Amino acid sequence: MEARLTDSAKRHLMIQLKKTLFTALRISSLSITKIIEIALAIAFFLICSVPLLLGFTVRSLFTGKAVFVRRAVWGQFGRRVVIRYFNTERPILRHAFLFFHVLTFDLALIGVSIKPYTPSTRMAGDACLFDHKPGIFNLWFLRSSSRIAHAGKHAIELEYNFRRDFLSDLSLIFKSIPAAMFHVRANAYPETINLFGVSFLNLEMPEAINKLMADINAGNHKKVYFVNPACFNQTFSNRKYFAVLKKANYIFPDGIGVLLACKIIRQPLKENINGTDMLPYLCRLAVQRGLSLFLLGGKPGIANMMKQKLEISFPGIQIVGERHGYFDHNYTESDAINHINHMAPNILLVALGVPRQELWIHRHFKQLNANIVMGVGGLFDFYSGTIRRAPQWMRDIGFEWLFRLWLEPGRMFKRYVIGNPLFIMRVLRWKQGKYTRR
Ligand code: UDP
Repeated sequence: MEARLTDSAKRHLMIQLKKTLFTALRISSLSITKIIEIALAIAFFLICSVPLLLGFTVRSLFTGKAVFVRRAVWGQFGRRVVIRYFNTERPILRHAFLFFHVLTFDLALIGVSIKPYTPSTRMAGDACLFDHKPGIFNLWFLRSSSRIAHAGKHAIELEYNFRRDFLSDLSLIFKSIPAAMFHVRANAYPETINLFGVSFLNLEMPEAINKLMADINAGNHKKVYFVNPACFNQTFSNRKYFAVLKKANYIFPDGIGVLLACKIIRQPLKENINGTDMLPYLCRLAVQRGLSLFLLGGKPGIANMMKQKLEISFPGIQIVGERHGYFDHNYTESDAINHINHMAPNILLVALGVPRQELWIHRHFKQLNANIVMGVGGLFDFYSGTIRRAPQWMRDIGFEWLFRLWLEPGRMFKRYVIGNPLFIMRVLRWKQGKYTRR
C-alpha cells in the first residue's frame, strides 16, 4: 500500500514537473518574441521616429502646424486606444511615429490591421480579430500595397489570424518594406488609365469578372488583353501590336511595374489584374453558371495537362476543347478555328505569347465563335506546372519578375534587366509629356 502510494505520488510529481516545464518554455518563448519585438521597435523608433520628430518639431516652430494628429483605433480585446501619427499626408512618414506606441504596448510591431474606432468597423462574428493587437506591419497593408487580387480585407485578416507564427510574422516586416514603395493612398480612382497611348481598365478583380460575365450574359463578342511593362516596351518597336492594342475591347494592367508606373504618373491603380490570378475566379463562375472554355496554345500536350488540372480543381467545369499553339497563325481556314467554332465556347483562352496572340486574335476575331477571346501569354505553362510560378512571398513584394529571370536568365535578361529600367525611364518621359502617341 505504501509503495503504491509512493508510485502514484511520483507520477503526480512527474505530471506537475512536465506542466511546469511546459509553462516555463511557453513563457520564455513568448518573452523571447516580446523581447525581439521591443528591440526592433526601439531600433525603428531611433532610426525613423526620432529624426522625423525633430524635423516636424522644427516645422511646427516655423509654421505653427501641429506635429501630430491623434486617432482613436481599436486596440487589443476591443479597447479604445488613442494613437499619434505625424501630421503629414505622406503615408510612410505619417506612420513613422507608431513605433512609439509599440513601446507603450498599445500597438504591436506585427499584428492585425489598425482600424478606426467606429462601431461600423466591427462585424458580427469577427471577435477573434479583435483579440489581437493591431500591428504597424500587417498582412492587409502588404497585400493592398502590392495590389494583388485578393478576396477582401476581412478574408485577409482571417488568413493572418489563423496562419500566424513567429517566422511568418518576422517575414512580414521584410516584405512590407519593398511593398511600401508601391503603396498608394487614394480617395478616388480613374476608370481608365492611359499609358503611352494604351488605355487600360482600372478595376478590382470582382469588378473585372462581373464585366466579363455581363458580356457573356448579353451574348457579346469581346477581345481582352493584358499588358505588362514588357508589352508596353514592345509597343515602341512594334507598330502593328500598338495598333492592335488600341482596338481591344478591354485591357487589364498586369504586373507590379504597371502599378509603379501608375504611381509615378499619379493615376492610382486599383489592382494588378493578370491572367494567372484571374483564372480561378473565371473557372469558379464558369462552373456555377455552366459556361464553357476552350484552351488554345502552348506546346503539344500542355493545354491537355492544363485541362486535366482544371477538371480536378474545379469539378464540373466544361472544357469543350484544347489544342496546341503550333499551327500556321496566318491561315484563316485553319483546323484550330474550325474546331473552336464547332465547339462555340463562351471563353476562349489564347496562349501563343505576346504579341503573337494579340495579332492572331485581332486578325481572326470576326471569324471566332466565342463570347470572350482572351490573350493569356504563358498561362498554360504556369498552370500545367511546366514553368514554376514565383512563391507567394515573392509575389507579395512585387518580385515575381526576378523569379522568372532566375528560371530563364538567357531569355528574360533583355525583358527584365534592360526592359524594366527602360520602361521606368519611358514612364518618366511620358509624365513630362515627351511622347505624343495616339
Ligand atoms: N506558343 C505557342 N505557339 C507559338 C509560340 C508560342 O503556342 O507559335 C506558346 C508557348 O508554348 C508558350 C506561350 O505561347 O506556352 C508563351 O510563349 P512565350 O513564352 O514565348 O511568351 P511570353 O511569355 O514571352 O509572352
